[in-house]
Amino acid sequence: MHTIIFATNNQHKVEEIKKVVGNNVNIVTLADAGIDIDIPEPHDTLQDNASEKSQTIHRLTAQNCFSEDTGLEVEALNGEPGVKSARYAGDERNFQGNIDKLLLNLAGKQNRAARFRTVISLIWEEKEYFFEGICNGRIVDDQKGAQGFGYDPVFVPDGSNKTFAEMSMDEKNAFSHRRKATDKLVAFLNSLEG
Ligand code: IMP
Repeated sequence: MHTIIFATNNQHKVEEIKKVVGNNVNIVTLADAGIDIDIPEPHDTLQDNASEKSQTIHRLTAQNCFSEDTGLEVEALNGEPGVKSARYAGDERNFQGNIDKLLLNLAGKQNRAARFRTVISLIWEEKEYFFEGICNGRIVDDQKGAQGFGYDPVFVPDGSNKTFAEMSMDEKNAFSHRRKATDKLVAFLNSLEG
């Protein structure tokens, strides 16, 4: 089994990804590795931010590692909040504040189409690889559910009528951007064997 550091401080992401990789990959969290830093996300693309996070942890540990950056891209808002999803309503990264701002900016708009997009940066044996996962869906006005995190209470993926926050982790993973990107990561790691 491959062992790899996941460069994130977001426990929800760790749990979702651990469920997806199962016994294929041994995920080591930053806490497990004894690293306590707030990794910067200063760039204006998901790919560059993902890269910044995995490069930062690779510099500190010299280990194989990966990170991911995710954004909610709303069609009627020209792709916003996108790379700014975490700090949409301010630097305090408040989930409810972000949802409130999103719904305010969408008020009166008919087009509710949105997608989550995840980009994973993997540093494996000193080389960097990228994997993308997209989940198409729509934004609903009525917040529903208490599972998950971030914009989950207002996002309904195509093929369902539940928000992500109304779903168990397994149900969310059946649709999710993060799972699709992680599947590609696992397929890549498995292809290295033999
Ligand atoms: P980051 O990848 O940690 O920068 O995530 C950016 C922001 O996007 C998070 O703070 C959340 O608000 C939101 N986000 C990322 N992934 C998800 C998800 O799976 N569901 C809902 N919101 C998410």
